[in-house]
Amino acid sequence: VKAAGRDGYRLYRPAMLDAVKGEKALEAELRHAITAREFELHYQPILDVGTRSVHTAEALVRWRHPVRGLVAPDRFIALAERTGLIQPLSEWIIEQACLDAVSWPPSVQLAVNVSATQFKRGNLFDVVMRALLRSGLNPQRLQIEVTETVLLEQQSEQLQTFRRLKAMGATLVLDDFGTGFSSASYLTNFPFDKIKIDKSFIQGLQSRECAAVIASAVVLAKGLGISVTAEGIETESQFEDVRALGIDFAQGYLFGRPVPCNEFVRAPVFRDDL
Ligand code: C2E
Ligand code: CA
Ligand code: CA
Ligand code: CA
Repeated sequence: VKAAGRDGYRLYRPAMLDAVKGEKALEAELRHAITAREFELHYQPILDVGTRSVHTAEALVRWRHPVRGLVAPDRFIALAERTGLIQPLSEWIIEQACLDAVSWPPSVQLAVNVSATQFKRGNLFDVVMRALLRSGLNPQRLQIEVTETVLLEQQSEQLQTFRRLKAMGATLVLDDFGTGFSSASYLTNFPFDKIKIDKSFIQGLQSRECAAVIASAVVLAKGLGISVTAEGIETESQFEDVRALGIDFAQGYLFGRPVPCNEFVRAPVFRDDL
């Protein structure tokens, strides 16, 4: 069953992928997909609320499966992490994203998502460095989005990696903010430049609780001198609400869905920025 994707194309999100095939068979398929280069990156704009222009593009990976069509990342990232395949996959993702971004206007930044396991293996810095060197992308244009699960273990090693990435000029973003249980303490212990409030809070804006989480996140971030992005904005009214709460950057279907690179650079929202 192919679910009609909300991204404007059909994304395959069936439980079938896990149920029918064994883990080993899926692993083999994923391994093959990496050598066969069956992955592609889609880009979604992140707007500067003040100027309403594109500030950043987030790279989101998809698996162009020969039979199943476009497979969403939540169907294969976890498996890639469990099997270690996230390593070669991420190397491709980071390098390809940097290669794509060098041809955009230099005012547009690139955001890439990074998995917890990449930090554990400890070579994230080298992977990022190699991608920057091969692509020629200015490190100042690179944002690295990490979720707090990354931070649960080996804190001192991760801190070291964070410091090296920052020293090189990259921006660190705490992703999915609010979904974990101790986000606030991570902000004081790690050198984040930005937080991204998870879309579940924007989707729940009708409720007093979600609005309160966003409002306090903004206050916390402002107090620490870091900026705030709201993700998953689909309607003008959600945008008005989060803007009133003081967020700095906005991302969501209202401004643009994730699309392939060639489409992304043609999008009106992007062209306005040229
Ligand atoms: P995320 O980093 O929190 O990314 C945001 C997700 O929300 C994306 O789903 C995006 O397409 C979706 N989204 C954006 N705007 C809206 C909106 O207005 N409404 C709704 N309903 N959804 C919106 P996607 O692309 O399926 O990615 C899911 C997750 O997979 C990501 O969550 C991220 O954790 C992971 N992921 C994606 N690409 C990569 C990657 O290259 N590397 C790693 N390690 N993880 C990735
Ligand atoms: Ca993200
Ligand atoms: Ca996520
Ligand atoms: Ca999220």
